[in-house]
Amino acid sequence: MSLIPYVGRFAPTPSGPLHFGSLVAALASYLDAKSHQGQWLMRIEDIDPPREQAGATQAILQVLEAFELFWDGTVMYQSQQEERYQACVDHLLKEGLAYPCQCSRKQLKGHTVYPNSCRKNLPALGAECSIRLKTEGTFVIKDRIQGLCQWPMDQVGDFIIQRRDKLFAYQLAVVLDDNQQGINQVVRGYDILESTPRQLQLMQHLGLTPPTYAHIPVIVQANGQKLSKQNLAPAINSHQKQSYLIKALAALQLFPDHSVQASGYSDILRWAIAHWSPDPLSNKQQIPEADIVVPSI
Ligand code: GLU
Repeated sequence: MSLIPYVGRFAPTPSGPLHFGSLVAALASYLDAKSHQGQWLMRIEDIDPPREQAGATQAILQVLEAFELFWDGTVMYQSQQEERYQACVDHLLKEGLAYPCQCSRKQLKGHTVYPNSCRKNLPALGAECSIRLKTEGTFVIKDRIQGLCQWPMDQVGDFIIQRRDKLFAYQLAVVLDDNQQGINQVVRGYDILESTPRQLQLMQHLGLTPPTYAHIPVIVQANGQKLSKQNLAPAINSHQKQSYLIKALAALQLFPDHSVQASGYSDILRWAIAHWSPDPLSNKQQIPEADIVVPSI
């Protein structure tokens, strides 16, 4: 990897407490940062109040601390960044790189890609508008886990950066905040890979340098569904942190032997930093939770 100091992050949405899938994502980004002597920053993505659960932010941060996944610096809260987001939307509108859209959900029913109706027939900027970003060309990345990925933007389409209710879209906030925090390495779940071309498009319009990406496989249930707050994945209980750690490491293809396990939680974590590599996860998109083999001691 390059000589530029590594700056990574974990950026949970506080829509509920951490579950096993999000613990694995946190651990992977932490191990990757620490094994590169990098910084691991924390950002709470609380820009969508209807999706948030009271107390979730504190619960997430407490579990991470209990698991000794200590972040560097202070926590960034997206809810406190709205002025910057608005300034960016205004700039993109002024440059003609974004435009107001009046299309209702009903009008767009049946379209998988936005048909550019308002790009062709620009409405006046009004209270009832969302704001869409113009997309063009093809984006290509070499993901450290998923390999070469490319997206022709005509298959992605112009997308919303500010909703009709004036809330800012995740795509906008994530790009601006990764830039603000100096993030140059993103390790996150495979489920977010499909958002990456939108983020790359935004970075191109804003003249920002993309980070390097590693999209780790997501943990799924027997029915193939990702573990999530919506399908009631149980919250992590930090009283059993060693067994959670061993299982999360097994999901990441790390298997500490008996003597490492016997030396206790902090030593297992240190061992994991020294042994972490994303290579065994190459091209994997999903890991069924039931297939995770925990080494017995
Ligand atoms: N906030 C997103 C989530 O909790 C993660 C965003 C990202 O890592 O880019 O799924």
